[in-house]
Amino acid sequence: MPITPLHFGPGLAIKAIVPKNFSFTLFAFTQIVIDLESVYFFLQDDLRTHRFFHGYVGATIVLIVSIVIGKPLCQWLFNKWNGKLSKGQKKWLYIESKISMKSAIIGSIFGAYIHVFLDSIMHIDIKPFSPFTDTNMMYRLMTLNQLDLFCLISGILGVLVFIICSVKKRIYQ
Ligand SMILES: [Zn+2]
Repeated sequence: MPITPLHFGPGLAIKAIVPKNFSFTLFAFTQIVIDLESVYFFLQDDLRTHRFFHGYVGATIVLIVSIVIGKPLCQWLFNKWNGKLSKGQKKWLYIESKISMKSAIIGSIFGAYIHVFLDSIMHIDIKPFSPFTDTNMMYRLMTLNQLDLFCLISGILGVLVFIICSVKKRIYQ
């Protein structure tokens, strides 16, 4: 599968730890943009689906694009979403549309580099340090089951913390 939603797990955990200074939106946006490369080659029936943008150099370009284009695009989409909500719906479904530059930068950096790191463990066709070396020293640093479990547990913990904080905030506001 060219896209791995489990990669969102560590992002949810980071969001739970530093909610104000980390944009999960930009984290996810960056991950999705990087995987557009895999989708493209997958649709071409090309087995080497992880190329330039799955290395640290290519991912750095993606994270800059995410900050410059992804941040205003996501803010615009959230504003559209919020505008369609009724007063009652706003209590539960309102999304804070303002993404600070600091949280966008941190979210995009983590999104890009965690993606390359986790994919480097999973996929043999990645050259994370290209063009400097074609070696992938991270490949099978842990088993795929261990990797999935790590992503899953970090994601569940992040969601739990988020739910507890949201309910507390809405009850006491
Ligand atoms: Zn990927």
